[in-house]
Amino acid sequence: MKAGARGAHRRLHLGRTGATGVAVLGVLAAIAAAAPVLAPFDPGARVGAPFSPPSTTHLLGTNDVGQDLLSELVFGARASLAVGLAAAAASTAIGTAIGLTAGYARGWVDTVLMRIVDVVLSLPFLPLAIVIGVVLGPGLATLVLLIAAVTWAGTARSLRSQVLAVRELDHVSAARAMGATTSHVLWRHVLVDVTPLVVPQFVLAAKVAILLEASLSFLGLGDRTTRSWGTTLSFAFERSAFLTDAWLWWVVPPGACIALAVLGFSLVGYGIEEMSRPRLRRRPAPVWQRQSVPAGSAAAGESAPVPVLEIVDLGVRYDTPSGAVLALDGVSLTVAAGEVVGLIGESGSGKSTVVTAAAGLLRAPAVVTHGGVFLDGEELGALSPDELRRRRGTRVALVPQEAMAALNPVLSVGDQVVEAIRAHQPLSRAQGRARAAQLLAMVGIDPARAGDHPHQFSGGMRQRIVIAMALANEPAVLIADEPTTGLDLVTAADVLRLLASLQARLGMAMLVVSHDLPAVLGLATRVIVLEDGRVVEEGTGERVSSLPSHPHTKALIDAIPRLRPPSPAVPERVP
Ligand code: ADP
Ligand code: MG
Repeated sequence: MKAGARGAHRRLHLGRTGATGVAVLGVLAAIAAAAPVLAPFDPGARVGAPFSPPSTTHLLGTNDVGQDLLSELVFGARASLAVGLAAAAASTAIGTAIGLTAGYARGWVDTVLMRIVDVVLSLPFLPLAIVIGVVLGPGLATLVLLIAAVTWAGTARSLRSQVLAVRELDHVSAARAMGATTSHVLWRHVLVDVTPLVVPQFVLAAKVAILLEASLSFLGLGDRTTRSWGTTLSFAFERSAFLTDAWLWWVVPPGACIALAVLGFSLVGYGIEEMSRPRLRRRPAPVWQRQSVPAGSAAAGESAPVPVLEIVDLGVRYDTPSGAVLALDGVSLTVAAGEVVGLIGESGSGKSTVVTAAAGLLRAPAVVTHGGVFLDGEELGALSPDELRRRRGTRVALVPQEAMAALNPVLSVGDQVVEAIRAHQPLSRAQGRARAAQLLAMVGIDPARAGDHPHQFSGGMRQRIVIAMALANEPAVLIADEPTTGLDLVTAADVLRLLASLQARLGMAMLVVSHDLPAVLGLATRVIVLEDGRVVEEGTGERVSSLPSHPHTKALIDAIPRLRPPSPAVPERVP
């Protein structure tokens, strides 16, 4: 039994919680199985003086007639566990059968069965148990029947709702359409799909059954001639264990055993729940497993371009000791899902202020004078710091202006990527490291270098590492503030090419900030020009560069030595 339980653990990949539960139950089951070997005496024989305290011969002392309490406890494990498991099996079988029938048949069958379930769930348990117990007479079979009779309804209800969903799945409908018999469809398709729910229901029922066995035996509804932990408690109570110190070794050990068995089943239950959750709740595939999305098609997939990021009439002022600086004066812009928007302007025009506000990171001395930032339609200013933190990284991620400053010099880059992942995803360190390696590979950094520190990388590589960190939690919109500043021309083009390919592959929205117009033109489908905290120009990259309507844009363009017409092929230009 113990070996079987261990095998099941390995097969099911229960987490540490579930494995602990299996171990606890395994030990109890082993004790029950080996009772004749482990028990020092026959539990029914009078082998010592009445009420003997614990001694070397009687480790848990004796009861009022001189029977060995340790032997009683060891043999009690047999009846308690056997009744618990048998009752749980009966309860799960009845519940599953009723749940499958109701969910699959639907119609009046469903209605009638579910009314019965409601009635059973609302009946007061103890009076019912006593009535049935009196009618059937005390005994182990009565215990099993009683427990099954009062616990099957919960299982039936939760399975029925699952079956209602499963019966509409494609492969089940297909089997029906092919003329398969009802029993075949139920056995081969529906039952297989709901098994992940049947197992935890059984574990839950076993936990309840162990407790009920103890309570019912205590009430005298069990078999008084078979020792179980419940009957031991019942005898202790009837025979004045509480009047002496005897309760310490007569009542506490069986009580602890019951608690241990319940704990074991609960832990296994949690383990199964953790294990089966990913199967029941389908999550989107992580970015690195997603199929590549052709550039520009991400937004086309949606019915209408939904603005992921919307900045409305934003005004920001910096209150410095030397006076107030108006950094933004009524800036409005939107970034739709999957869209790449370029934000250009001279140094000091307010670009960094825009992106800091968009990431919800504006701090004193910055003051929002009017307007606001909306992420997925929610105003950032209205969110609590914790709500804001949860959206940062997952909905909007920022690649800050200075990559070196964004990395911690004393931590390895791998650890920093793992930290970024684990800020939002409950992964173990090992899982985090595996994902960090995938992210590093995705941005073109050899994952074998994860243990190296920032100073061991070139500027372009550091920029890639910061991009990997920003992508760690699959943001809906990635904001890159001057991603090529401080990089030589070739490296800058490499980084831009990387951003373009990541955007194409992941289909995320991007807001790319630069004072370098051609850099943005190759990437963005729309360009916004900022001057002195105001939007002075907006349009497709082509229009902005060919027909600069505003003198400031014209100046920006004239400042560029040899501007070629914008081409989406920029990413390919550098080998
Ligand atoms: P850009 O990124 O386009 O260079 P910024 O958003 O950094 O522009 O700055 C816009 C204006 O706000 C500038 O005039 C700058 O001096 C001012 N500013 C930015 N940050 C601060 C700050 N922390 N304190 C005071 N003034 C600031
Ligand atoms: Mg800046």
